[in-house]
Order: sequence, then C-alpha cells, then structure tokens
Amino acid sequence: MAYIINDDCISCGACEAECPVSAISEGDGKYVINADECLDCGACAGVCPVGAPVQE
Ligand code: SF4
Ligand code: SF4
Repeated sequence: MAYIINDDCISCGACEAECPVSAISEGDGKYVINADECLDCGACAGVCPVGAPVQE
C-alpha cells in the first residue's frame, strides 16, 4: 500500500515539504509519490488543498 497523487493535483508543492521520507517530487503536470519510499503516513493528504493524494 502507498499513497498516489491523482489528476486533481494543481502542483502547488505543499505536500513535498510534509513528506517525512522525501518520497514526493514534481512530475509532469502533477506531483508524484515514489511508492517504494512511501510510508502511508497520510501527511501529504492532510495538507493538500484539493485532496489529490489518495490511498491505492
Ligand atoms: Fe510521504 Fe506520508 Fe504522503 Fe507517503 S503518505 S508520500 S510517506 S507524506
Ligand atoms: Fe498536488 Fe496536493 Fe501536493 Fe499540491 S499538495 S502538489 S495539489 S498533491
């Protein structure tokens, strides 16, 4: 299990700084989560203004 960022992402960047393991980076048109690093903590979902990070 890991979080993924869906297409609602507006690339605000707020989640990147909140991730304790730096699993989030800017991708092509939206931010992306490295599933191999994600701890499922939910911090990114907590700060996202549009609810784009969701659990797979
Ligand atoms: Fe990072 Fe936690 Fe979001 Fe996974 S759920 S990407 S560990 S902030
Ligand atoms: Fe995208 Fe939400 Fe992260 Fe902002 S906080 S970059 S809208 S996933």
